[in-house]
Amino acid sequence: MSTENMKFATKAIHAGVDPDPTSGAVMTPIYQTSTYAQEAPGKHKGYEYARTQNPTRDALQKNLSALENGKFGICFSSGLAAMDAIMRLLNPGDEIVSCNDLYGGSYRQMVRVHERYGIKAHFVDMTDLKKVEKAINKNTKLVWIETPTNPMLNIIDIQAVCDIAKAHKVLTCVDNTFASPYLQNPLDLGADIVTHSATKYLGGHSDVVHGAIILNDEAIAQQLYFLQNAVGAVPGPQDCFLVLRGVKTLHLRVERACKNAKKIAKYLVGHPKVKNVYYPGLKDNPYYELAKRQMRHFGAMVSFDLHEDSLEEASKVLSNTKLFLLAESLGGVESLIGHPATMTHASIPREERLKVGLTDSLIRLSVGIEDVEDLIEDLEQAFVHL
Ligand SMILES: *Cc1c(COP(=O)(O)O)cnc(C)c1O
Repeated sequence: MSTENMKFATKAIHAGVDPDPTSGAVMTPIYQTSTYAQEAPGKHKGYEYARTQNPTRDALQKNLSALENGKFGICFSSGLAAMDAIMRLLNPGDEIVSCNDLYGGSYRQMVRVHERYGIKAHFVDMTDLKKVEKAINKNTKLVWIETPTNPMLNIIDIQAVCDIAKAHKVLTCVDNTFASPYLQNPLDLGADIVTHSATKYLGGHSDVVHGAIILNDEAIAQQLYFLQNAVGAVPGPQDCFLVLRGVKTLHLRVERACKNAKKIAKYLVGHPKVKNVYYPGLKDNPYYELAKRQMRHFGAMVSFDLHEDSLEEASKVLSNTKLFLLAESLGGVESLIGHPATMTHASIPREERLKVGLTDSLIRLSVGIEDVEDLIEDLEQAFVHL
């Protein structure tokens, strides 16, 4: 069966992964080697040096490209290394239009790394399409979308933003980390490039840092393969193996995590101490219909804030959960709890945070795949401290 004809779960397990030709090993071996013997000068099996090619990495690149319905997959040592390669497609004088509710590390890279090399980023609220249109000018070369947004979990209309960018002949890239390819496939919605921090849902077990790019355009793919080799931010074979293993259960993990998240969001809505619950899967969420159209499920991230809006109150919840571990990151099998105002979004001025609803008491959950009754009980016993 060709990969294109496989459904998602079959692709997750089989795409790019064939029994190893030398031994028949069912699991892709970790090719822990830096170089490959050649029979004669220039006569080799397609592998010369391990920064350039590695069979474990090849298998993963093929697998991830299949999951995103793309032709080319290119892996990097982290999500931010993947992003850096995309930024290097631009030249001094080029501009980026990006969403404003963005992963902090992506914002930092655009502003504090690439701006020095003459690439200017503009940050706009992309839930408002008029603002996207207005922000594009003759120097704009890239539109950078991240949806669901972090930590407010707003949904950006990928197809609509890509249509606007295309009309201006501007390249689009979607950071699909929060949704994972199981929930959302941006290339199908018109995006040119998809990128992932595989550290999150793709790896799924909080045991590896890794990044990936998937796309259909061969000329851009060749530039990115060139950058992967020329800059050298490549993942090690063991890391590729871990992501490859994680991906085999992506659909099961994300399915269960989304189910748990929905139940937790509903529990939070009914809690007297909770003020706002941000979860696109709630029927009265302004992005419910769009999320339903664009995503397979509503995701496993839930944010909420408290009626008594202070750091101290939030801290009582954050310090007292036992199963929800207080930690940065997301997308692992275990549930995590975080405080954007002091953790991931601490570098954003308070007034700016408040404008988008990121209050002092806002708490972000990355819901894992434990028994949801235990997770709710854990939150319940933490709320008692309020
Ligand atoms: C974590 C994350 C990144 C960065 O990925 P790393 O693997 O940590 O370098 C980029 N985008 C989003 C949305 C993320 O959550």
